[in-house]
Amino acid sequence: MDDSDESELDVPAEVHTVCQYCGGGGMVADPKLAIIGGAPRTVDNGRPCPHCETVGHFPGIVPPV
Ligand SMILES: [Zn+2]
Repeated sequence: MDDSDESELDVPAEVHTVCQYCGGGGMVADPKLAIIGGAPRTVDNGRPCPHCETVGHFPGIVPPV
């Protein structure tokens, strides 16, 4: 009956939805063009995800916006 030994997906016991915005990292990329030392370069310090407030996921099922 239970021959499904090839469970590649690790299903969490607690259902939650990974934040669509930051992908669960809690931080989002925030690349900015900055002039440093007279040379233009991209600075990406990242910033807290405004969607999940750095939690990275939501409890329960949240449909994609
Ligand atoms: Zn997020």
